[in-house]
Amino acid sequence: MTEKIFKGISVSDGIRIGKAFFYKPFCAKITSDSITEENIQAEISRFSNAILKAKDELSELISNLEKTENKDKSGVIKGQLGFLADPAFSPEINKLIEKRLYNSERAVSEVSEKFALMFENMKNSYMRERAADIRDTGSRLIRILSGGACSSLSEISDEIVLFAEDLSPTDTISLNKEKVLAFVTFKGGKTSHTAIFAKSMGIPAIVGASEINGNFSDGDTVIVDAISGICIVNPDTGTIAEYERKIADEKQKQEFLMNYANKPALTSDGESIIIAANIGSYEDAEFSLSQGADASGLLRTELFYLSASTLPDEEKQFEQYKSIASLFSPKEVIVRTLDIGGDKEVSYLKIPKEENPFLGYRAIRLCLDQQELFLTQLRAILRASAYGKLKIMFPMISSIDELFEAKALLEKAKAQLDDSSYAYDKKIQVGMMIEIPSAAVMADVFAEEVDFFSIGTNDLIQYTLACDRGNEKVSHLYDFCNPAVIRLIDHTAKSAEKGKILIGMCGGMAGDPLAIPLLIGMGFDELSMASTSIVKAKYITLKVSKSNCQKLREEVLKCRDAKEIRHILNEFYHEYIGVI
Ligand code: PEP
Ligand code: MG
Repeated sequence: MTEKIFKGISVSDGIRIGKAFFYKPFCAKITSDSITEENIQAEISRFSNAILKAKDELSELISNLEKTENKDKSGVIKGQLGFLADPAFSPEINKLIEKRLYNSERAVSEVSEKFALMFENMKNSYMRERAADIRDTGSRLIRILSGGACSSLSEISDEIVLFAEDLSPTDTISLNKEKVLAFVTFKGGKTSHTAIFAKSMGIPAIVGASEINGNFSDGDTVIVDAISGICIVNPDTGTIAEYERKIADEKQKQEFLMNYANKPALTSDGESIIIAANIGSYEDAEFSLSQGADASGLLRTELFYLSASTLPDEEKQFEQYKSIASLFSPKEVIVRTLDIGGDKEVSYLKIPKEENPFLGYRAIRLCLDQQELFLTQLRAILRASAYGKLKIMFPMISSIDELFEAKALLEKAKAQLDDSSYAYDKKIQVGMMIEIPSAAVMADVFAEEVDFFSIGTNDLIQYTLACDRGNEKVSHLYDFCNPAVIRLIDHTAKSAEKGKILIGMCGGMAGDPLAIPLLIGMGFDELSMASTSIVKAKYITLKVSKSNCQKLREEVLKCRDAKEIRHILNEFYHEYIGVI
């Protein structure tokens, strides 16, 4: 077998060597096939065997989960196992096979849907949540009956390098990072949420590697070099040895950088920068603190919605936000209100498919339309503000009217809490994301209405350059160095300074080593990034002076194209920071 090298887009740093596993999500196609009377017994025993196989799979899954940090998830699987043994379930399926001559797949689909609907209509929220488990159990049985393999990414039980056509953000957060050493997808762009979540979980990842499709088999040895953006299939022994050395070097660099985790990020001329973390869960929050985060500049609350099977209620959200607020206290956490839509789909919200989801019903647009959902979240955040230092941030604001509407709803949520005598931080600060060009252009006006800005470059770049952040075909155009993007960012920073409000950035650019000196030169107070980028960002800040960074900004603002800007940023990096 000869060694082959394939290129992709590196989205989460790291190098791993492992065995390939191609994940093909199972898509159940239920045929409405009937059976004949002579086949009834054979069909019933086919169904019983599927039940046995499903029980085996679930038991193995429970014992695997109980050995990992995800042991709390085993309760859900135990519930599914219990459902298979429910005295009403199998007999009802057998009846459909016997009396109506349904094949097993059709009978399972009908009966599990009937049970799921029954649970969905129950008053008790715990029972309602079981509907998704019942559907999951039904899909497992149908997959087994149709001869499909591995049904869920969370079930991967061997150490592998995962290959997939594409992964959704929800797929990515369900990955078992103990087992998935790295992943490679054929589709996807630089700052899709799949890429962002891989980075926050510390899983090396390459996306948009279209040419690798069809050029590897399960079990092949592969090297994922997610620093250079290449994947090597069937490397020869020399290449493996070379990469083992690189892995050892990376480990050493990381150990060196960890010395900076607990240092304050001060430039050599005394300017202090808050190096903060983007987080989406309690585990992320813990990890970010271990990396030395000075604050959290972005709590992506939608992750709590993405990982749930039904809409989380106020109490549940309150507990989640409260635990993070207390963990970070006295450090600050910027809680971003729900940003669902775009590439983040939540099945239970039943958002109709859209032609252009990134330009459609997303984030604040959805929240202003579904006000009860928004008020529930705002009350939960406000209540949690009594347990730490929280700030509230609205995503995807495109006009001042939206900001006024969102602020009015926040006041309504406060009044509701006052009526029920709940405690909350009455002076909670309110900010907005600048991630739509219209907001960046109008930043001087917005600065009079909020306490802080945080620039979301992941979206700002895609909307400014008309370039889908998740599409590998246009990823060469998706570039923070584009002077139009740089000018919008600079205008926003200047507007914040004039309006005497805080300016932060929480898009991917904030953690890019090349961009950090430029952002310091533009006057950013806070840079919020994936936790894995924090130690390096602190190292860089300590190596530069604000006055040199300001000169860099002046030079960059004179440039006419992205290439020139990247060249200047590279030169500065090599002069003041060096090779680390
Ligand atoms: C951004 O757009 O830069 C951002 C931080 O938000 P998200 O990536 O969640 O859209
Ligand atoms: Mg965004």
